[in-house]
Parts: sequence; structure tokens; C-alpha cells
Amino acid sequence: MLPIAGLFGVHNHTVSLALELILLFLAIIWIALIYWTFADARRRIDDGIVVGVATLVSLIPFVGTLIYMIVRPPEYLEDVRERELDIEAAEARLAQVGMHVCPHCDYAVEKDFLRCPNCLRKLRDPCVGCSKPLHPEWRICPYCETEVGLDPTLTRRPRRPRRESEQTIGGRPPSDLI
Ligand SMILES: [Zn+2]
Ligand SMILES: [Zn+2]
Repeated sequence: MLPIAGLFGVHNHTVSLALELILLFLAIIWIALIYWTFADARRRIDDGIVVGVATLVSLIPFVGTLIYMIVRPPEYLEDVRERELDIEAAEARLAQVGMHVCPHCDYAVEKDFLRCPNCLRKLRDPCVGCSKPLHPEWRICPYCETEVGLDPTLTRRPRRPRRESEQTIGGRPPSDLI
């Protein structure tokens, strides 16, 4: 038989056999825990070196795996990726139904907001003619045909009346003025 039982001062065959079986059982559990730590670390940690360190720690019988379980990342890598995909999909869905996020603070805004209600920064300019929100790329307001960047009071009422009055005053003969 193995000399392990002798180390403990046990000479009874049945007892030494039982002791050896217990030690064998513990050794199997220890190896299984090392493998479990390695497999679990691979599912949670992206860095190969850190996985190696975690496996090395688990070589400390039983306590190593316990330490690993305390400090391991709480989420599986695939759950993290799944959550990121969910967020991307949700953002795409929001964009489709006309919801947008503020480019400055990521707050949910509607597409015709002029200002972000959260960070108060300017999102769009209103049309000077009809005050509807204009897309930054538009060169003409699609609602009232005002050209973007032009004051509608200038396009609708050129300063003709004032000029006329100036001209009549200036152009009138002195006899008319008296
Ligand atoms: Zn904002
Ligand atoms: Zn307009």
C-alpha cells in the first residue's frame, strides 16, 4: 500500500485504505477545481495573462479557488457583448422612430428639439421665417421656402419704401418743400 497512511501513524489496513481514499477524493476535487477555475476565468476574462494568474492562484488547494471566486469579474464576456449589442440595437430603434440622442450629453431628444433640455446646448436653428427647426444641411426651409441664413423681412420687404421716401425728399424741387 501507499506510505501515506504510515505518515499519520496509522497501521490498520482498513483505516489506512479509508484515509487514502479520502486523500484521493480530495486530490480529484482539487484538480477539478483548478480546471473549473481555468474554464470559468476564460469565460469571464479577456486577457490570457490574467486567466493564467487566476489558474495559478487556484493551485493553492481549495483556498485558491475561493480567492478567485471572490475577485473574479461578475459577468461572463458573452453577457457583456450581448448587453452591448442590446444597447446598440436600442439606439438604432430609437433613431428609426425619430428619437435621437444629444451629441453632447447622450440625453434622449426628439428630432425637432432646438435645444437639449438636459445640457441646454443648441441642437438645431429655427427657421427665421416660420420658426420650424431646420436640419443643419438644409439650404432652404422646406416649410416656408425661406432661404436659410437670410432674414425674411429683407426678402419680403426690401427697403424700397424708405429709399423711395429718401429719394422723393432728396429729389423734390425746393419749391415743393416750401
Ligand atoms: Zn445635451
Ligand atoms: Zn420656414
